[in-house]
Amino acid sequence: MAKNLIGKKPTVVFDFDNTLFDAMQLKFLFRAIAQANGFSDEQSRAFYSAARNEQDGIIAITLARYVDEVRRRCQVEGRNIDEIATGAVVGEIQKKGAGLLLSGARELLEFCQQKKLNYYLLSLGVRDWQLEKMRWVKIDKIFSDKNTVFTVKENGGKAEALRALFGADFTGKNTVLFNDRADESAELLLAFNDLVVFLRRDTRDERSSGEKVMANLRADYEDRIVIADGLLELLKIFKKYVS
Ligand SMILES: [Mg+2]
Repeated sequence: MAKNLIGKKPTVVFDFDNTLFDAMQLKFLFRAIAQANGFSDEQSRAFYSAARNEQDGIIAITLARYVDEVRRRCQVEGRNIDEIATGAVVGEIQKKGAGLLLSGARELLEFCQQKKLNYYLLSLGVRDWQLEKMRWVKIDKIFSDKNTVFTVKENGGKAEALRALFGADFTGKNTVLFNDRADESAELLLAFNDLVVFLRRDTRDERSSGEKVMANLRADYEDRIVIADGLLELLKIFKKYVS
């Protein structure tokens, strides 16, 4: 485990989607828009994939963009989108917004504030859309322009953003990243030799949470990775390290 953190006051970087914010649940809610318009579960997934990227490697998904995709698919079938049913689901999503902060996120952020750690948000996605989600879960006062960095580049965007924050010679020294994706974490651990990652494993994310993926990550980065299924568990471990 992360011995070099013991007794330190590390800088903390939080990934946003699916680390602090329940992006997985939001994805399911998006699909309900397609389903309310008579599309199957499979179609609703395909629409998400279609709406997710503007072009290869550039994240573009927003609620409006998903609705547009459903509207377009309705037109392909020679009908109009059901504005009332769609509006009802969109309303549900907005109402649900505040509940999309992941369990333990509030406690984790409060702990960082109490300990007066420097903390940052690393947000992958369209700026305005990311800001809207931040407002939903009321972390828009905790993260401002000073400590938030946005990127839309799916591959390598986070490494670039970390260098933009901390300088081209950043090695990850005395820095902890809270993240969810195993593949992305592996890339960042490789790019930054001193970085420590606390990984929130989400078993709903089939791409990124398998036993083998976790075992490989542990084997490759024994001293620099901590893995748990929830933020509260990660916080408990984090508290043992931070002075
Ligand atoms: Mg994430």
